[in-house]
Amino acid sequence: MLKKSPKFLLIPFILVLTNCSYVFPVGDNNIDKERETGKLADNFFLEDPDCQNQETERSVGDFSAFVWNSGKVEPESVAIDFEGGLSTKYITSINYGFHQIETCVIKDNEKICDENVVLQSAGKDLKICGAKSYSRNSYEGVAVSTVAGIHKAASFFDSLNSGMYLRKTKVIVLPRVEKQTVDKSNNSVEKTFTADNMAYSPSYMGNPVFIIFPRSQQGIDAGIWKDLNLWELQWGLAHEFGHHIYTKIAKGTSAGDVPLGPRIEEETNPFTDNHDHDHGFHLESSPMATRVNGALNEGFADLFAYYSEGGKDGSIDGIDCFQDSRDLNSFNFADGTPKILDSAAHAQFTSLSKKSTPSDCETPNFAGIHTFGTLIAFGISKIIDASRPEASNQERAKIAVKWIQKVHENDNNAKADAHYAISDLFEVLGPLEESSCNVLSEVFSAYELQLEDAAGC
Ligand SMILES: [Zn+2]
Repeated sequence: MLKKSPKFLLIPFILVLTNCSYVFPVGDNNIDKERETGKLADNFFLEDPDCQNQETERSVGDFSAFVWNSGKVEPESVAIDFEGGLSTKYITSINYGFHQIETCVIKDNEKICDENVVLQSAGKDLKICGAKSYSRNSYEGVAVSTVAGIHKAASFFDSLNSGMYLRKTKVIVLPRVEKQTVDKSNNSVEKTFTADNMAYSPSYMGNPVFIIFPRSQQGIDAGIWKDLNLWELQWGLAHEFGHHIYTKIAKGTSAGDVPLGPRIEEETNPFTDNHDHDHGFHLESSPMATRVNGALNEGFADLFAYYSEGGKDGSIDGIDCFQDSRDLNSFNFADGTPKILDSAAHAQFTSLSKKSTPSDCETPNFAGIHTFGTLIAFGISKIIDASRPEASNQERAKIAVKWIQKVHENDNNAKADAHYAISDLFEVLGPLEESSCNVLSEVFSAYELQLEDAAGC
């Protein structure tokens, strides 16, 4: 289905999906084009406009969220308490109506963007006046489904009793992040929008934020994610929540004074900021350490999403580009490539080349932090499974969290290679038994020699 679509549509789609969502692109994902997807499918509306100007103390009760479940989206009843109609246990506020336009100019075949951004509207805080079933395409309906997903992930994290305190987050739903590219040679203007994605930013206007981008008309026309809006995919929201946890862990340790993303005072706009940000390792660390950290962040986010969704098959079944490839229960990527971190995958990741990504989302490209992160997540989950066969889903998730804590307690700055971070797992698990050693040498075959000692194999 994907391969039949025109190529100009495919490129933004695939990149958006593999660059799953950092607003601040990392390493080789730092290409502006990734986040432009053309025309918006813009049919959202405010279902309860009167509510927006009312005094509301609390909106509490069972809300109807739309949730992807076993291959289709269904309404699901979710208890939420909106304080003042605005904030919840985990969320400070929900913004809607955000609109900005960035203008770029093509001159002498060169595209110059120059951070020329005009904020058309900063949007407003969305108010919810009652627990009821909001339409799937209303701002309120999108907000409720998003909140349901974030609450599920946050409650799962709470249930792990990690002793970690996470900040409440802001949510921006359906922002219009528009780019107008003026071609001076023929005076044409091309408009593009960021769509078909979700994002997490560690800090936007002083708060961590989840951003829920709208759908694109191209995506609908191409039949991608049929009858699914990404915010209805709780695995996706849990993945973003995984970044929130990872960021906290990376910040709270020796790398603590290093900003994840720009410093708060510098940061006015998460949508246009394209600087290469350091996601948790020391600023002076090598580009490779930054890439390794990016892959760990993505890998941990996939691990957390997997456990948050019960650690079993099915949470991303039937979803283009995610099924199999990002499912930790699947031993192969969608095209059949085994999820083995072998020397070829390692070489591709460390080559630092800016090779273009494959032209479809079925073929893994290990140069990217998401796909390489998937290899790390898959291997870590299989070793946890092998060495703790009796452990509950929560206990496994806890091991994953402790592993990332170890990674950041130890000297991250030196970690210019993923095997250092992987070996920290054995500080949590202790020495492996033979059967687990066999799993280790299979899933991380590129690092067999480096890991054996640490794992007691
Ligand atoms: Zn991600």
